[in-house]
Amino acid sequence: MTTDRRELLKDVDTVVIKVGTSSITRGGNTVCTEFMDSVAEQVRRVKDDGKKVLIVTSGAIGVGLAAMDAHPKPREIPIRQAAASVGQSILMQRWSESFQKQGLLIAQILLTLDFYSDREKYLNLRNAIQTLLSYDVVPVINENDVICVKEIDAMFGDNDTLSAYVCSKMDADLLIILSDVDGLYDRNPKLFPDAKLIPVVEDVSSVLGAAGDPVDRVGTGGMKTKLKAAEICHDAGCSMIIASSAEDDVIVRAVRGDDVGTIFITDTREPKKSIWIRGARSSGTIVVDAGGAKALRNHMSLLSVGIRDVSGRFDRGDVVDIVCDDELIAKGITDYSSEDAFRIRGLRSDRIAEVLGHKSYDDVIRSENIVLM
Ligand code: GLU
Repeated sequence: MTTDRRELLKDVDTVVIKVGTSSITRGGNTVCTEFMDSVAEQVRRVKDDGKKVLIVTSGAIGVGLAAMDAHPKPREIPIRQAAASVGQSILMQRWSESFQKQGLLIAQILLTLDFYSDREKYLNLRNAIQTLLSYDVVPVINENDVICVKEIDAMFGDNDTLSAYVCSKMDADLLIILSDVDGLYDRNPKLFPDAKLIPVVEDVSSVLGAAGDPVDRVGTGGMKTKLKAAEICHDAGCSMIIASSAEDDVIVRAVRGDDVGTIFITDTREPKKSIWIRGARSSGTIVVDAGGAKALRNHMSLLSVGIRDVSGRFDRGDVVDIVCDDELIAKGITDYSSEDAFRIRGLRSDRIAEVLGHKSYDDVIRSENIVLM
């Protein structure tokens, strides 16, 4: 496997950039406009290069606490929840101003980690994000800390993990974690002045013990959560770079394949979603005709016109077997329930609304949710 960054990153299409609290506030307690302007400007350049970009932003709690002049004790969660709601709107206003200067529109998305395990939430999120990207909008994501106490408490979640899950579910090719550390060191650099930066990590499991767990003063993500993020990215076939937000043009250079920070590379060729679909229990079966089977084998979506029969009970978001002439040819995540799929079998897509009284999608199963067996 090559470790040449330019080679590794030459086909990158979707980039997720995670910006930590300490980067946004530059160690102070209000947002650093100059830094946010610089992120927006670099994102514009990356987008001008034809790539799709999503931002995962931290900083809501830190900025909100400062605005409210609140100084909670470590376990005083309600103040942090309140601060998150104050800080989030300040944060989005600032992001919006910075991106406006680049002629870019942004969208706010607040998530709880259950989008990862709940198929329906995931599908809704994915459809919304894909639509935003198709309109050239930059999604700006944060945890919904107001209702998500576990994340605030930093016991189970944080924005490092969240950004890796976003990469995994959105099939991103590269996650860039911008932080106040400039990469992974062979030892904790805060304790050992001679610690050396590791430029490339091929096997994240081999470095799990390399760094201690320095917890930032204002953010919640130490190195441990970044390595966990690297593991999630690895399994999803996504590369990850940890780099210092203080470096000039760090985003543009990281995407271009310059030697910034630490890159975690992955040799997983099959996206995790495909592996998941392949192994998932099917809730029912869709029988397709020869035309439908041919379309699937050509990596196209499954349309209602190609459906002959439906058996079993399933809902939108469930995995189903796709069978032709008694042979299992594919599995996929359906966008229609068994009942609706049965009612529209054999019909052209433009008749779906008339028959069902509603239409969610032209495709019964979209190509990106189909795995050939
Ligand atoms: N979601 C938190 C915030 O916006 C930050 C979590 C983190 O630092 O990872 O303040």
